[in-house]
Order: sequence, then structure tokens, then C-alpha cells
Amino acid sequence: MEKTILDKAKEMQDWLVEHRREFHRHPELSFKEFRTSKIIKEELEKMGIETKAIGETGVIGLINGRESGKVIGLRADMDALPVQEDTGLDYTSENEGVMHACGHDAHISMLLGAAKLLSGMKNDFKGTVKIIFQPAEETGRGAKTIIEEGVLENPAVDVIVGMHIFADFPCGKIVLQEGPLMASSDTWKLEVIGKQAHGSAPWQGVDANVCAIAITQAFQTIVSRVNDARSPIVINVGTIKGGERFNITSGKVTMEGMNRSFNDEARKMIPVWMERVIKGICSAYDCEYNFKYDMLVGAVINDADVIKQLKESIGSFLGEENIIQVEKIMAGEDFSEYMINVKGAIMLLGAGNIEEDCIYSLHSDHFKIDENAMPIGVASYVQAAMDFLNK
Ligand SMILES: [Zn+2]
Ligand SMILES: [Zn+2]
Repeated sequence: MEKTILDKAKEMQDWLVEHRREFHRHPELSFKEFRTSKIIKEELEKMGIETKAIGETGVIGLINGRESGKVIGLRADMDALPVQEDTGLDYTSENEGVMHACGHDAHISMLLGAAKLLSGMKNDFKGTVKIIFQPAEETGRGAKTIIEEGVLENPAVDVIVGMHIFADFPCGKIVLQEGPLMASSDTWKLEVIGKQAHGSAPWQGVDANVCAIAITQAFQTIVSRVNDARSPIVINVGTIKGGERFNITSGKVTMEGMNRSFNDEARKMIPVWMERVIKGICSAYDCEYNFKYDMLVGAVINDADVIKQLKESIGSFLGEENIIQVEKIMAGEDFSEYMINVKGAIMLLGAGNIEEDCIYSLHSDHFKIDENAMPIGVASYVQAAMDFLNK
């Protein structure tokens, strides 16, 4: 019987594990993925793949099939997080305070694996596979940066596919879900400015703390009373720092937060609603304010046609019963930036395993994956690419 793509990917398991652990041992923070970038470039060149640098640390590889045709982009992110690893693994991070706690080490390894397989199958497809290694996903600015540098051009990408590993879903399963899947992530900063006074005589000043507390509470009424409850949003006040001393009336409060939504209209309205509350309450409490809002990344809304094709491609070797649907995820992914201009979808790869203690969420200092998920990721990238290009 002829080998399936998954059989071929499984034969690479040791290679995938070795590479993933190497990246795991040497994690690098966003936009500082210099060592990672160098290794990726060398590995692609070993496979005979033409490479290009994009941004300071991004890498593109181009694999041309037997004749010209469409272009598919396959994307992996490369950066790690400022987390002190506490997994106890023997290939634990050697970089103090930095950890691949979001599984991007596996993403790199899987996309390299896919490149390796595809580079040996050039006669089996037409068109071009553009392999994209993206920096700085964790800041929400990596995709934007390399898009501005032209990653989707020359040759122009017709469709783009990404992947994220999750220990929340069992190893052996893959999430292929059309529509909203991951939330938008926008940050903000608010300064509430009052006037200091002796703590014994608050009427001589303007208490910024009291005003900031009223604003914080009123923000949550935007979620429950103003926003359409059928389309969830989160307004998160992450920090409130105010006042100078226990016996001084607070003259200033600084607040920071990050908001989430799945709906573009709600996303655009949140800062308007917030400012309405800020303005009204500051006026009532006689405070001034500065409000800065940064639209960081939009929601990941998977294209229905792309998901349909992925289900056919991946179902062909993994079985339809292993394609699952999940609740929407309130975390963000800057993969959404590519989809502003290009049709695409992100696949979520299960790598959970209770016996192996692979049960922790992304960004946890205990985050671990079942590495047996990696060949499934490789095969998914490869089969998806072949089927899109040959259609
Ligand atoms: Zn992350
Ligand atoms: Zn991630």
C-alpha cells in the first residue's frame, strides 16, 4: 500500500522532536529571535529551499512545484515568552526567565518538517508553497510588521494557513472551525488626574482614586448593559496604580487593560463606549483624563471555503471523527492580520495527554505538549498545501 502523508510525517518523528527540543532549550523573546532565525534559514537551505529574510528575524522559504500556479502561505510563529520555566523537563529552557510556553517551538519544528516533505515532492504539485516563519506573535505586532515588509507579495499569496498547538485538546484531534475562533486583542491606557491634598482635608483636592474606582465599575456595565449580549466582549482592567501615600489624597491613577471581542462592530465601539463613561465620570468627579487606545489585532475569523477544503484534506488521512469543534477562544492571535487581505484559516492542533501531564494552558510555566501531535501537524500542512495547489 502507498504511504500516506501522515506515514511519511510519522517517520520524521525523531527529527521533529530533536529540532523542537533544540528550540525549546534556546527560547528567544519577540523580535529577538536571531538564533532561531539563523537555524531555520540553515535548515531550509540544507533542504535546497530558496530563503529570504523578512523583517529583522523573519524567514521566508519558497518551494516551487512542477509548473507555475497558485501560491499558498504556510505560517509558523517563532517567539517565546518572558516566563520562568517550571516543567522539570530534561530539555528545559537554558535561557533564564524565557520559555517557549506557547508552543511556538513545536510550530517551527512542524513547519520545517512540512518544508522538508514538500521539497521532496515538487513533482506532485503545481504552484508555489511559501513557508513563512513570523517573529513576535506574542506582542501582536509581528504579523503586521512582516506584512508591511511585503510577506504576502512577490509572489502574491492566494490563501494562507496557520496552526496553533493546544494542550487543552487531546493529542490526535485537530480543530477545523469556520467563523470566529479567536478574539480580537486591543490594549488601552488611562490616566485619571485629580489634585493632591493633605489626607485629612480631601475637600481641598480632587481624589483620583475614587474617580478611577467608579470608572472601573462602570466599565463592566458596558459589557452587561451596552454591548449586545449575543456577541461576547471582555473589558479587562489589568492594573490600577494610584496615589502616593496613605495620608495624601490621590492626585493621579494610571490604569491599563486589554479588551476582547469577536465582532468588528463591537470592537470598534468599545473605545467609544469606554470614553463616554470616562468623560462622564471624570466630569462628575472633577477629574481630567488621558485615554490611549491601541487596536492591536482583530479576531481570527476562519474562512468557510478554506475550512471546507481543510476538512476534506485532513479528514482524508486523520479521519473525520478526529476533526473537532470547540468553544470560541477569548485569547488573540495575530494570524488575523494576514486574513485582512488574504483568505485563510488557522488550525488548532490537540497536544493534550493527561497521563503525560500535558494538561496546562498556553503561557503556563508548566506548559507541556504530547510530541506525538507533531507529525499530525506536519501532515496537515502538507496535505492542505497539495490539495489547495492542485485544485
Ligand atoms: Zn502565546
Ligand atoms: Zn502562540
